[in-house]
Amino acid sequence: MRLDLKLTGCRALTMDPARPAAHTIGIWQGRVAGLDDDVADLPAAETVDLGGAVVLPGFVDAHTHLAWNGRRTTDVTGLSTVEQILDRLSAPGTGWIEASGYDRRIMDRPLTALDLDRISGDRPVYVADLSGHACVVNSVVLNQLPEITSDGWLTENEQLAARTLRLPYSLDEITAELHTSARQVLSEGVTMCAEAGIGAGLIASSPLEAAAYQRARLPIRVQLMVSAHVLHDVAADPADGIARAIDLGLHTGFGDDMLSLGAMKLWTDGGMMARTAALSEPYAGTGNSGQLAEPEELMRAAIVDAHHAGWQLAIHAIGDRAVDFTLDAIQEAQRQRPRADARHRIEHCGLVRPEQLGRIASLGVVPVIQPAFLWAYGDDYSEIMGAERAPWMYRGRAFLDHGITVAGSSDRPVADGAPLRAIDFMVHRRSSSGRAVGPDEAITVEEAIRAYTLGGAYACRKEHVLGSLTPGKLADLVVLGDDPRTSDSIAEIPVLATMVGGTFAFQRPS
Ligand SMILES: [Zn+2]
Repeated sequence: MRLDLKLTGCRALTMDPARPAAHTIGIWQGRVAGLDDDVADLPAAETVDLGGAVVLPGFVDAHTHLAWNGRRTTDVTGLSTVEQILDRLSAPGTGWIEASGYDRRIMDRPLTALDLDRISGDRPVYVADLSGHACVVNSVVLNQLPEITSDGWLTENEQLAARTLRLPYSLDEITAELHTSARQVLSEGVTMCAEAGIGAGLIASSPLEAAAYQRARLPIRVQLMVSAHVLHDVAADPADGIARAIDLGLHTGFGDDMLSLGAMKLWTDGGMMARTAALSEPYAGTGNSGQLAEPEELMRAAIVDAHHAGWQLAIHAIGDRAVDFTLDAIQEAQRQRPRADARHRIEHCGLVRPEQLGRIASLGVVPVIQPAFLWAYGDDYSEIMGAERAPWMYRGRAFLDHGITVAGSSDRPVADGAPLRAIDFMVHRRSSSGRAVGPDEAITVEEAIRAYTLGGAYACRKEHVLGSLTPGKLADLVVLGDDPRTSDSIAEIPVLATMVGGTFAFQRPS
């Protein structure tokens, strides 16, 4: 046997408990052919000496938004006065004025439609809030939404109504956005992304958007989550027990190792930043407990029907009340039709009371968390949760101690997408200002890496081919400039190279 590539001089942390470390990795036909002595004597078409560099399995970002992240809009991140924002948005042109990065919490006063009208003329304006759960629009937009009374600030379903006016984007636009994001994530060591919801809802781009992923032929692996809003009645044989599905009966698992269908995505509440995550007790110092996204019976029916149709579910639930609802609905779906290893996921799982942990474990639910949320917003979130609940946010240790598989993810562009930033947070539990956020939830470096490799692969039902450097699995790996187990600053470790399927798809310019 002749290998395609032999990597020597590795300090590989394989994440495979059977062989946790390796110095030599043999690659053939895009897969790991063997490690160390298995391949040491085999000839290879090419040999690369990594000079002692640390090698990990490629990072899996189990929840991200590639198209949204790659979208070119005017960036107002960090601007804190109305005048600064109007200044940034004033430019000649036609069509929609779109901006992102608005943060209402830091403003001198909230931006309104009347403010935007001063610079917009007859052009519609859409300024997206950092949270993804709110926006500010101008009067041109409000006039097209006569059922809504607002000063311009729209959240959740009202935001969706405004968003829908802008759609669709063209396949060329979406394809370009996907390539922009793929280049970025490769430079951070990510080899697979799960796109968290296409087809409908707030982050939809076009009714054709799956076609963009198919034609883009991206250099990373992508799994598409499909919005539950595209479920529709189907006239199947009653023996199938499927009342609603998507066209052709496609469901989780369709596709190949580069592009596949993942879970069906549902939204059960909002977010902490917009104070719309559904809590069982109000946000500290307020009478507001957030809100569920839709009437419970509608959401429960979608969860049960998707479960019947063979879907894995990826259910957005940030507040503990939304988590309660989600666990109840999953339990009901499993009662009606038990499916071993349905492996339903809770996206974010941002606030989990101690007594909810056992239920998550017993239902086999996978929390897909975003550690960088707390690095970026942990100070604010700690305040709005209050002292008792702050340690329950985006847990680590408690999940693992309950035998729950945790998947790391970014929700990019809502927060920093670099896996090493998230791993750093999971280990140290310090926000960007240095504040300790749930320090008892800290996990080890190896556990944090596992969340971003095997854990992510498991959440995406790809652990048989991804997540560890195991002979027979796909040759996806990342080469680092330092060892996260001994580094003082994991987030700052340079990513030297990223390999997808045996080919270097990113190499850091030297
Ligand atoms: Zn998301």
